[in-house]
Amino acid sequence: MNLQSKLAILADAAKYDASCASSGAAPRNSVGGRGMGSTEGMGICHSYAPDGRCISLLKILLTNFCQYDCLYCVNRVTSNVPRARFTVDEVVQLTLDFYRRNCIEGLFLSSGIIQSPDYTMEQVVEVARVLREEHDFRGYIHLKTIPDASPELMQRAGRYADRLSINIELPTAESLTALAPEKDSAAIDRSMARMAVHIGESRAARKEQAAQAIVSMPQSRTTRRASAPLFAPGGQSTQMIVGADATNDRTILATSARLYGVHRLRRVYYSAFSPIPDAARALPLAAPPTVREHRLYQADWLMRIYGFTHDEIVPPSQGTPGGPMGMLALDMDPKLAWALAHRERFPVNLNTAPRELLLRVPGFGVQTVERLLAARRVRRLRHADLSRLHVPLKKVLPFVEAADYRPGRALEAADLAAQLAPPPVQRSLF
Ligand code: SF4
Repeated sequence: MNLQSKLAILADAAKYDASCASSGAAPRNSVGGRGMGSTEGMGICHSYAPDGRCISLLKILLTNFCQYDCLYCVNRVTSNVPRARFTVDEVVQLTLDFYRRNCIEGLFLSSGIIQSPDYTMEQVVEVARVLREEHDFRGYIHLKTIPDASPELMQRAGRYADRLSINIELPTAESLTALAPEKDSAAIDRSMARMAVHIGESRAARKEQAAQAIVSMPQSRTTRRASAPLFAPGGQSTQMIVGADATNDRTILATSARLYGVHRLRRVYYSAFSPIPDAARALPLAAPPTVREHRLYQADWLMRIYGFTHDEIVPPSQGTPGGPMGMLALDMDPKLAWALAHRERFPVNLNTAPRELLLRVPGFGVQTVERLLAARRVRRLRHADLSRLHVPLKKVLPFVEAADYRPGRALEAADLAAQLAPPPVQRSLF
């Protein structure tokens, strides 16, 4: 099979993995370096598809051959799809070629399980090693790791990769047992914990080294750069499949909250289950609405950046009448849904409210809140200030008060949700 055919199969097989965003990666030391992929000290550039997925990486599998039988996966052992396998050298050459042609900024590499988790992981790590050590590649590398692989291999992977990830796959241990019988949620947890320790140790060592360098030679900027080994400076991430089992959004978000809290994950990616050819009967026939994935990302954002807890975002009793409970509303964003359900917390005074409360106003982003806080240090905020900040006034005004503005009875309107709903949009022709 020629390289192009392999690429067609193995790039297509990788498209189901959503956890490829390159955000949060620290730049490798490319200052003054002429290594392949050097970014001249400016870090990693990002490019995202309209649905939020990163498109600037060469995203491939080493092989789509797999001895596991995860029912939701098109590459499972019982799936009747064409198989292919790259050699280590082929992946290295492809990455370098695409990079030279300016098509990519880095590599996202995952793999089916061949022979054993350790054998597979060795091959994946070898690709990263050859790129870094033999070709001085300084572009971005994200490696998908295999939870059952040995800790030593994981440690080597972290030395070469900007980001590591282990897919948790499903939100509960019970669902994992039912749909991916060879996978073990305890092993996934252990691997994530180990990675978190290595990432934390590496960061602490580099911080300490940098601090010591400043103390010992405060004049010399060049000596301030820490030389302790990097370990996955972009942290670790994971992917959860949504809609392959009956788990509700509340449980999904509780799992994410645990991963962020316990294992310090950088990101949890949600991937709406897509029906696959020859699917097992345990799987639903249809994909969940794509807006569900979108709402989960919004809720995730609220937990990570806006200080909400998963309990606040989805109370147990929330759901569509007759449908499952503990679900996010599909027809409005979770922040607006929370505000409408907690009208007693509003209006929020723009001139006196703390940052945490301002962040809860629908239509306010983090940047808007920072600007409001800066502006109110020098003067009282008025209605006109909101217009100047280009916030969505219709959405914001019922929830705030300013020096010259109060929302009156707008907050009490029974049809407030309908008033704030986005206008229906006609779908485009295909
Ligand atoms: S381990 Fe499971 S999810 Fe991963 S490639 Fe194999 S069958 Fe697919």
